[in-house]
This record gives sequence, C-alpha cells and structure tokens, in this order.
Amino acid sequence: MKINLEQLISCRESCIDLDFYYTLDKDEIFESYDIVNAKPLHFLGKIYKKNEEYIVELNFSGNITFRCNRCLEEVDKEINGHIVTKIKLGKTEIEDNEDDSLYLEGDTIELSALVNEAVILSLPMKVLCKEDCKGLCPTCGENLNINKCKCNKEKIDPRLEKLKNFFSNNEEV
Ligand SMILES: [Zn+2]
Ligand SMILES: [Zn+2]
Repeated sequence: MKINLEQLISCRESCIDLDFYYTLDKDEIFESYDIVNAKPLHFLGKIYKKNEEYIVELNFSGNITFRCNRCLEEVDKEINGHIVTKIKLGKTEIEDNEDDSLYLEGDTIELSALVNEAVILSLPMKVLCKEDCKGLCPTCGENLNINKCKCNKEKIDPRLEKLKNFFSNNEEV
C-alpha cells in the first residue's frame, strides 16, 4: 500500500490525512493463529512534517474472528492500536533489509510492512474464548465447556495400575 507524499514534500500541504481499510493476508501474517475471518481493519490518521522529519500517526480498529486456541469455537475479537513512527529519508547500507522501518522511496512510502507488524503486536499471545476455557478432551474430542466426558475418570496412570496389582498380589500370598 503506497502513499504519495508529494503534496507534503513540496510544502503544498502541511498534513496528509489517511483514512483507509486494509485486510491483512491471513495466510502469511497469521500463521500462528487460527483465523476464521479477517475483515478489513479501519486505519485513520495523518502524515505531517515536524522539525524536518516526516511522522506517520495511525489508529486502527476492527474485528477478527479467531478459533479458540483450546476448544476451537469461534471467537470474535476487537482489535485496535496506535502507530507513531518517523519516516527515514533513505536506506543506509548498514541497515538490515528485514527492518520494517518506513523509508521514503522517491515521493512515496510503502505502509504494508509497518501496518502488518503493528497489528500482530496488538494481538494476544493466545486467543481463548474465555480465560478458563476447558478445551477439548484429548481422548474423545468432547468440548469440555459444554459437556463432561468420562474419559478422565476411567483412565488410570499405567504406573499406578502396576502398583495396584503388586499390592493385591501380595495380599493374596
Ligand atoms: Zn475455548
Ligand atoms: Zn473425553
């Protein structure tokens, strides 16, 4: 997503208003999350000049539907955040190419990397439907928030099982 700063650089405007919707690439960006639906997020802000530097300020908000990390139910999460960053005037050779700083390229900047990074940082480490989600039974797959299953009660630690047999054998002697 390229933004042209020509108006600002030529001093015809003191500020460029930004108001756009942007959908993050759910396959690439959210590989560590299970996303059901990534709707476009709303970005609102401006680019302005301050002490010979160009500053980007953006607020973003929207909703993303995830799957709960434990029980796989759909969870609609409100996403929001704030970005403030300086635009660097050119890449120096020392700087890493992976760096997600904004650089002026001609009269334009490319916002995608910055925006992606900011949204990822605003997400929780793990998305849960509720703090104490009980998850799915690893044996029968039952959603333990809704129903109890009998798997846990029937399962006995195999080491304890041996011990139990050992004691009962000894009693018989
Ligand atoms: Zn859950
Ligand atoms: Zn079970």
